[in-house]
Amino acid sequence: METKNRNKWYRQLPKMDEILAQDWTKELIHIYGRSPVISALRKGLERIREEIPGYETIEELLEALEQYQLQVQNALALTNERHFKRVHNATGVVLHTNLGRAPMSEKILSEVTQKLLGYSNLEYDLEAGKRGERYGHFAQRICAITGAEDCLVVNNNAAAVLLMLAAIGTGKEVIVSRGEQVEIGGKFRIPDIMDQSGCRRVEVGTTNKTRVEDYAEAITEDTAALLKVHTSNFKIVGFTQTVERSELVALGREKRLPVLEDLGSGVLVDLSKYGLTKEPTVQDSLKAGVDLVTFSGDKLLGGPQAGIIVGKKCYIDKLKKHPLTRAMRIDKFTAAYLETLFCYYQDLSVAECTIPVLRMLSASEEELKTRAGQLQRLLSEKLTGDDQTRWTGQLDISVVACESTAGGGSLPGETIPGYGVRIEGAGLHPEHVTECLRRETEPVILRTVDGGLLFDVRTLEDEELPGVAEQVFRALRDF
Ligand SMILES: *Cc1c(COP(=O)(O)O)cnc(C)c1O
Repeated sequence: METKNRNKWYRQLPKMDEILAQDWTKELIHIYGRSPVISALRKGLERIREEIPGYETIEELLEALEQYQLQVQNALALTNERHFKRVHNATGVVLHTNLGRAPMSEKILSEVTQKLLGYSNLEYDLEAGKRGERYGHFAQRICAITGAEDCLVVNNNAAAVLLMLAAIGTGKEVIVSRGEQVEIGGKFRIPDIMDQSGCRRVEVGTTNKTRVEDYAEAITEDTAALLKVHTSNFKIVGFTQTVERSELVALGREKRLPVLEDLGSGVLVDLSKYGLTKEPTVQDSLKAGVDLVTFSGDKLLGGPQAGIIVGKKCYIDKLKKHPLTRAMRIDKFTAAYLETLFCYYQDLSVAECTIPVLRMLSASEEELKTRAGQLQRLLSEKLTGDDQTRWTGQLDISVVACESTAGGGSLPGETIPGYGVRIEGAGLHPEHVTECLRRETEPVILRTVDGGLLFDVRTLEDEELPGVAEQVFRALRDF
């Protein structure tokens, strides 16, 4: 009797062609395409079919069928969800390695998008009507700004250092200070890269002191180059001595050896203009006479991931001919972005408003205080305004002074005074809230300080503030 009933129940399941004739499935097909929709419809039906033996009454089955549409919609939305998303960075760490380092510029991106839709003259010389140079779009500009004779760009600075050492030093000795045998993070260690390049690493001096004589004494007829590495992510203090660029260059000239430098962050602007410690600029290194300088595209330069190599033409030519160059070649996106980026660098005041990293580092305290005030108002309206929530009257939301950092292994140990918004209140578990905020549709990443939430506004754009307030509201509402 039971089984017979159930057999009838199976007949309640709709046929696929009936389902596909309905408007809601047509709409889903329009959004997701036919085969993912059919597969989701089948899976949903299959699940109901499998559950039928467990149902007590036909009402349970009818209810499952009523839920069917919603389930299929949810399943499709879930499989279609993008894992890689934009996040709001409220940490105040400008070059946050885990959050994509230098944020991109909307203005530059929209220009780049136009160039990249369809074909481009990436490697085509429009005047001559024949093959052109991938690096030709920006090489002259980089040289004009940095004072270099020539340049080459590869995928990142780690690759740039490897290529430079391989092209100049394979099978020969390269001399480096023990105080500059650094690890940058992400397993990038100078000694490992040197060994991988095929050059013989000759270490001189000690961790805290290296003199130019140490280099001089280590030079043999097998020496190919002198290497300097910017110790970008740490500071040693006390009884220390490092070799000045000019001393190393003088020694290189005397012994007819090229001086190579891994500058790390590669800033083009004197940061002391913004009240920060001056990092050596690319121009400084070249002016001092360094033969080849490498630096990152997505640190203080504020561009895409890239490793930029500038310096003397004879050495750049050597690098261009090395087989590794092809293996480390940049794509058209990087080429297009770099051209536009360096255009903006021709005028510093334009660069400061267009390149997010520079805009964030150069933001004045008044500007940050105003932005913090704006966020504070938005949060207060959302959390304690008319829309009564359990938090109404329970939270202290205030503008506070805070300290941001450059991050990305630049300006080690240095903090930059700025402003933010602090939220605290009884029953507010900051660790829990930060976790909820990470899971929102527009995740917000922030710090917790002394039992409160801190939103540093240096790394938030004005347009992001309403979105941030909305996400905080949602995270707390579901508490
Ligand atoms: C960051 C850094 C690197 C690595 O640069 P990527 O662009 O991340 O590959 C190499 N050397 C120094 C000194 C750095 O600071």
